[in-house]
This record gives sequence, C-alpha cells and structure tokens, in this order.
Amino acid sequence: MANNSFTLEDDVVSINDHRSIPERLQILARNFWWTWNPQGQQIFRELSPLTWERSNHSAVDVLHDVSYTELSARLNDSDFLKKVQSVLDDFDSYMEAKDTWARRQSTKFSAPVAYFSAEFGFHESLPIYSGGLGVLSGDHTKSASDLGIPFIGISLLYRNGYFQQHIGADGWQQESYPHYDPVRLPLELVTKEAGGRLLNSVEIGHSTVHFQAWRLLVGRAVIYLLDTNLPENDQHFQGLTAHVYGGNVDTRIGQEIVLGVGGVRLLRSMQIEPAVFHMNEGHSAFLTLELLREQIKQGRDFQQAQAAVRARCIFTTHTPVPAGHDRFSSELLEHTLGRFWSDTGLNHDQLMAYGRINAGEQQELFTMTVLALKMSRAANGVSQLHGEVSREMWEELYPERKVNEVPIGHITNGIHTPSWATAKAHEFWNKRLGVDWTAKLIDTQYWSKLENGDIATDEELWALRYILRRDLVEFVRQRLRSQLLHSDTESSVTIDHALSPDALTICFARRFATYKRGPLIFRDLDLIIELVNHPDHPIQFVFAGKAHPRDNEGKRFMQRIVEIARHPQLVGKVVFIENYDMNVGRYLVSGADVWLNTPRRPLEASGTSGQKIVIHGGLNLSILDGWWREGFNGSNGWSIGEDISETDLELQDEKDSGSLYRTLTEQVIPEFYRRDAQGVPKAWIRRIRSAMRSLVPIYNTDRMVAEYVTRYYMPR
Ligand SMILES: *Cc1c(COP(=O)(O)O)cnc(C)c1O
Repeated sequence: MANNSFTLEDDVVSINDHRSIPERLQILARNFWWTWNPQGQQIFRELSPLTWERSNHSAVDVLHDVSYTELSARLNDSDFLKKVQSVLDDFDSYMEAKDTWARRQSTKFSAPVAYFSAEFGFHESLPIYSGGLGVLSGDHTKSASDLGIPFIGISLLYRNGYFQQHIGADGWQQESYPHYDPVRLPLELVTKEAGGRLLNSVEIGHSTVHFQAWRLLVGRAVIYLLDTNLPENDQHFQGLTAHVYGGNVDTRIGQEIVLGVGGVRLLRSMQIEPAVFHMNEGHSAFLTLELLREQIKQGRDFQQAQAAVRARCIFTTHTPVPAGHDRFSSELLEHTLGRFWSDTGLNHDQLMAYGRINAGEQQELFTMTVLALKMSRAANGVSQLHGEVSREMWEELYPERKVNEVPIGHITNGIHTPSWATAKAHEFWNKRLGVDWTAKLIDTQYWSKLENGDIATDEELWALRYILRRDLVEFVRQRLRSQLLHSDTESSVTIDHALSPDALTICFARRFATYKRGPLIFRDLDLIIELVNHPDHPIQFVFAGKAHPRDNEGKRFMQRIVEIARHPQLVGKVVFIENYDMNVGRYLVSGADVWLNTPRRPLEASGTSGQKIVIHGGLNLSILDGWWREGFNGSNGWSIGEDISETDLELQDEKDSGSLYRTLTEQVIPEFYRRDAQGVPKAWIRRIRSAMRSLVPIYNTDRMVAEYVTRYYMPR
C-alpha cells in the first residue's frame, strides 16, 4: 500500500511533541492553513520581507532563503519566538481538533469526498487558477477543512500557471508564462511505499501518457495535482499540463482525460474509495467513464454499471451560456478516447450517447455537461437564478418532465471569509468580536449583534474604512510605480498623487469576459469626468482584470478602460492595476467603498467577489444577477436595473447604465458625503451594518459546504 493512503481524523496522532521549532515551521510552510492565519503570514513576512514580496508571499520560498543558522538565531529573539510558538500551537490544535462541525452531524463519513476541479485558487503564490471557478474550489476546500469533512481535491499541476499580464503602450494585454519550480512550492511528490515516484497513466489516442502527482496540504484537506511533465512521455505530452486552459482543443481534451480518468486512477493506486465524486464544472466528467469501465470490468452489465456510477457522482454546473460548455466532435472523441473506450466492450455510438441530448443525432457534439448530468445522482447550479436558467437550458435532456421538474437544484456560492479578510480586518474583529468569530460564520444570531453600536461604534467602523482605503491607495501607488518601469505612459508626478484616501472609491475587478461589461460605467464619459472631478464630492475608480489570451473582444474592452485611465481629465483618478490575482483582489475588496458589478443578466452564474467586501465594510452596487439577486434586501447596498433579463442587448446596456447613473448620483454619492458633526456618514454606516448582518452569515463557504454535505454528500 502506498504511504499516501487517506487517514481519517481518528487516526491522526500528535506528531509534534518531539519536533524542533524549525522543523515545525517547515511543516507549517507546507500547509496552506497559514493562508487564512494572519499571524502565520506575519512570521514568514518578518523572516524575509523582500523574499516574501518577491515570491508573491510564498512561505516555502522564504524558508528556502533563510538558512538554518539564521533561523536559529532569529528564534533566540524571545518576542519572535513567542509569536512563532503561538502560531504553531494554533496550527496543531486546528489539525487535531475533534469537536468539528462534521463530528456534530448525525451521519458520519466513512470515506472522503473526492472533489475534482480543473483549477484551484488557494493563494497568489500557487497560480494554478484563472478566476472565479478556481477561487471557489479553493474556498470550498478550506471550508471543508474547517468543518472537518474528510476531503480530497484533484486537479493538475500547471507548471507555467496562468499567464502574467502586462499592458503595452497601446493598451493591449501582453501575456507571459513564468516557470514555477515545484521545489519552491508547498508541494510534495507522491511516492510509493517502496520508494520512487508513484506513477500512473492514461491512454490518449495511441499513446500512453504517464503522470505523477504532487500532494498539497490545505488544513486537514489533501489536494493531488497531476503532472505529465515526465521523461517517460513524448515531448508533446510532457507539456500537456503546463498551462491553465492552455492550447487548442487537443490540449483541452487531453488535460480533461488526465484530470478525470487519471484522477480516478491515482485514487485507486492509493487504495482510496471516496464516498462521493464531486465534479466541479464539466471539465472532469470523464471520471464517470473511468468509473463505468471499472464497473464493467468487475462484471456488471452496462445498466447496473451505470447505476453504480450515478449513485456516487454529483455535479455542479457554473456556466449559464450554451457556448461556455466544453464540446467535442465525434471524430476527436474516437481519436483520443477510442483505445480507452474499447476496454469497456461498448461501441462508439454508446460513448457518444452519453454526451448527447439526443443519442441518435449524428451531428450533435459530445458535451461534457451532458455527460456529467447523465452520470450524476444530483446536480446543481450556483445561485437561485442560475438554477432556473440551467433547468431551462437542459430541459431537453428530460423530455418527460416539466421545466421546473428538471433535476438541477442550486446551492449559492460563498467565500472563505477568513482567507479574504485582510490582516487589519482580522485584527479589528478579533478585538471586538473575539478571536473565534471565524468559527461563527453561519450563526445569523451572532452577526445580528452588528446592527447597533455595541460591538463597533459608527466612528470605529468609519476608521476601519479609512484604514483599508488608505492601504489600497498606497498599494495602487506602489503598483503604478512598478508599472511605470516597463511602460512610458504614466508620469511619476501623477503616480505619487494617484487616488485620494478621502474620495469615494469604486472598484471593479473581474476577468475581462465581455458579458461582465467592464466599460459600461463609461457609457456617458462626460458625466463620469464631471463626477470624478467634483470639487467636494469626488469619486474614483480602480480597475483590474485579465482577459483570456484568445478573447480579443475582452481585450478590446480592457484596452478601452486603459485608454480612459489615460484620459487627461481622469488620469490618477481612474486607474488600471495590472496582473489581477488573489493578492490584488484582497487589496481591492478591502479598500473599496463600493464594489461595482455590471454583468449582462442572467450570465453571472453567481459571482463571489462582491461577497469579499462585506467583512471590510464595503457596499455592493450591482445588477440583480447571481448571488446579489438573493443577497440584496433594499438596505444593504444598491441594485442596478430591474429583476428581468432583457433580450435586446443594446436596450439592456442603455437601461442598465441609466439605472446605474441614477443610483450613483441620487443615492450613492450623496449618502457617502452626508456627514455628521464628527465627520461620519451615518446613513452610509447604517447600510454597512445592514450588509454585515444580512450577508456575512450567508455568503460564505462554511454555509455552502454545509449545504453540499447535508443535501448532496451525505450517504443516502
Ligand atoms: C473572487 C475572485 C474571482 C471571482 O469573482 P467574480 O465576482 O466571480 O468575478 C476571480 N478572480 C479572483 C482573483 C478572485 O479573487
């Protein structure tokens, strides 16, 4: 048996009694628990501030750079030692905790949940995510760990990650792909008990593609990242897992075979039999074909085999547009999966039938979402509206049912609040709510305490807003200065005075997918110029976001924003920050007074970035789409437009921007600047309180994962 077999929490023994502090620090650096523990981050930052910054906050990198001699010397500083010891003790008690949410549930897990996702966003130092889907997977994992659910994640190790973004002088996005050395990442190669890498393989076309796996620890959860970069493979396949969503359709299907089929084989090679296979989006749906093949090999007939697979799989869809779903041609499938499939004894038409709405429709492509839906015992969208849209979209698959009976439910997405709260927000709430506030995230009673000033006064909340806004302003100035180094467009004079720590700060950070309508706020540019330059009531904007490398329309949207940010009357007041990632995101979601969200309804399945601002006292100004359609209660932020989906796109833009301008000028700006004698905007703070009370205890991944457990994961 391999040494990696999954241990349930009962088997965890106290491992640290005999270890030295430097050894324990090495263990800590290799468990992403520290990414939601600000004191843990502080230790690594203090050890080497420059390496910490240069490595985009990598604890492993810091420990690479600090010699054992240096570390021992530093630990002779009793203040530092005390901090280190306290973090290590917190970490140990977290890892050994017995009184978890999962333990308190009546049904116990006998085996782990296996959660498959093409991307995971845990932290900026491990760039194996492109956007919201990855961040959601990462936050899901962290809450699964916090709640004490035995949890295994499966994904790919992308050695070149997702691209790094620079903006050229022409405002066009440029992409570069650094190489990430696994040795500098918190990863451990999975080995066999007898020693040596644990290798598995999948068939892709006529080739056998080998892969190894890297283990990543995220609190009590374990993630396995599959990697084909091996000398055993043809050159071509060595690069298969190099880039997040890289390459053409051949790369895409190859990656999905490694993820789905390979992921199951990896688990088998470690003797892991999960209680449930959770497919987060359709990319991993080939796993169901591997499970089917296993069942058939065990002698089940094809009906029984299919029933056995369905009994163990659940599926979450994220894409409300038909074009967003992976589809493959019959020829491509025959070519890439043919050899694998022949082992089942089923024919090609039977394979295609799994991915088609109409099995016999020869022209119909193979859709991963259809495969996932057919092979799952339960499926869900990620907000109430997205559930409705998904039921309509896949109605045809269930001809015997009415649309409201289509078996796709919804669980609204959340965020892992402790990861998104900045160190200063943690400090603020630790002091006022007590350090256990992060364990109370689903307690609505607890958060109702914020309704009045007993916990935090209006003045204190307003001070928090100033602290966080100032941090954003200074971060932006620093970033603009380094952006200046490789471009000749900004002048250093404007940079030192870019943004004002007093002005109403509106942030927009998104993938630049066109449906998110980044430039919508600038439809009436003259009005924006007037509002931004108002002598007493100015507003300012911070933008960030990447466009997919092949999305030229998205890049044009971004170019338009960059050009606006260079407009002589807007420069330094509308800014674009390059290279949006989780770190940039954390500054923006904490510094924003207002989080602007203008998707083309109903295309934002959920969205989560607006949930990250609430604990920092930010307010949402958003289209009634995704989570905000459920979260908005009339007093906890603002809506844009009505609760309808317009089909005339030009008309939709016209109506939504009109609504946005009215709300901005008639409500948002006046309320922000209406101050009492102490300079505090009373009505604004009331709105912040309403947001915290109503949104914090719902839009988080503790609530979300608990819902997955009780509705979908629990054995039935
Ligand atoms: C939260 C987050 C997202 C997802 O935000 P949306 O609201 O869904 O656009 C994407 N990228 C990063 C870096 C994030 O932190």
